[in-house]
Amino acid sequence: MKKRVEKVAIVKCKNYNEIEVEKAISKALSLAEIEIPKRKKVLIKPNVVGFFDKNQEAITTHPSIIEAICKILKKNKNEIFIGDSSFTNPEIAFKKSGIEEVAKKYGKLIIFEQDKIIKVKDKDAKVLKRFHLPKIIKQADLIINVPKLKTHQLTKYTGAIKNLYGCIPGGMKQKLHMEAGNAKKFSKLLVDIYQNIRPKVNIMDGVVGMEGKGPTSGKPKKAGYILASKNTISLDVACVKLMGYKPKKILAIKEAIKRKLGNLKFDLKGMKKLPNLHFEKPFVQEKLSKKILKMFKQKPIIVDKKKCIKCGLCAKKCPAQAIRLNPYPEIDKKKCIRCFCCMEVCPQHALSLKE
Ligand code: SF4
Ligand code: SF4
Repeated sequence: MKKRVEKVAIVKCKNYNEIEVEKAISKALSLAEIEIPKRKKVLIKPNVVGFFDKNQEAITTHPSIIEAICKILKKNKNEIFIGDSSFTNPEIAFKKSGIEEVAKKYGKLIIFEQDKIIKVKDKDAKVLKRFHLPKIIKQADLIINVPKLKTHQLTKYTGAIKNLYGCIPGGMKQKLHMEAGNAKKFSKLLVDIYQNIRPKVNIMDGVVGMEGKGPTSGKPKKAGYILASKNTISLDVACVKLMGYKPKKILAIKEAIKRKLGNLKFDLKGMKKLPNLHFEKPFVQEKLSKKILKMFKQKPIIVDKKKCIKCGLCAKKCPAQAIRLNPYPEIDKKKCIRCFCCMEVCPQHALSLKE
């Protein structure tokens, strides 16, 4: 059987100016041949993450991207829901990201852990045969997945597939991190979640991305693009190429292709060839000898006491309960599963791997 080649649109967008963003998104949707529904229930899933300010442009999906999508949807009288969960306090996370304000203007904000929770069973899943999702995921006629172009210290890249991990309500995410334990199993788990959600529209906020120690402690990278595709996997394949990765090196993409949920080929619209933006990569484990890899695994997570405010969030969110405050965080290396959730949630960027 011939493999289906999906369209991926790429459009330049230099900054988060409202008019620029709306123009770029409209153009990307049209190039990717994505039709805007009429009078439907549409759920927009941004990447809200945690207590991060919208002005820290490289961490959360920028509110001007969400606002532009809302304006386009409103023209066709769609009912809009904007939803996500958070490792931290979701109310504060939504407020700080600027997305709460957009939701108030155009529709309804849904904090996933506060929605009715439904059980999902999937006998074809590789890791998650049973899990929970908020009811809105199944109620919505259309899901628009709106990730952010960033590196990730565990999975190397966090994009369209990984953004759907945020559909797992609140604290259940910690439990799943613990269950997965390593990047390979975690990537399989991400594809299990993806195959039960399958958003039909995917729009990447690649205006300002993040390189290095993503998804929250890296450096902002002005990439200057918005990408769109009907297919989540195709969008991720294009985005990682744009960042300078080989797509098969990203375990979730590799797993999705193995399950025939997507393929490496895509039909690029808006440009003849994708540029390579050479994002600075986080530490790449598999290139190292066993000896150096062992050293990496023993590399301690260190606390910058000048930055740490002793809030205890890292300890609260650690799925392995490996952190205790004394009064600064102390990490029990024997318990730690190296999921890096502590670094992800720290509002001060006070945790990092020892150089
Ligand atoms: S390291 Fe970060 S999350 Fe942990 S106590 Fe300090 S400021 Fe809070
Ligand atoms: S200490 Fe950090 S990296 Fe280790 S298990 Fe806890 S949250 Fe994960």
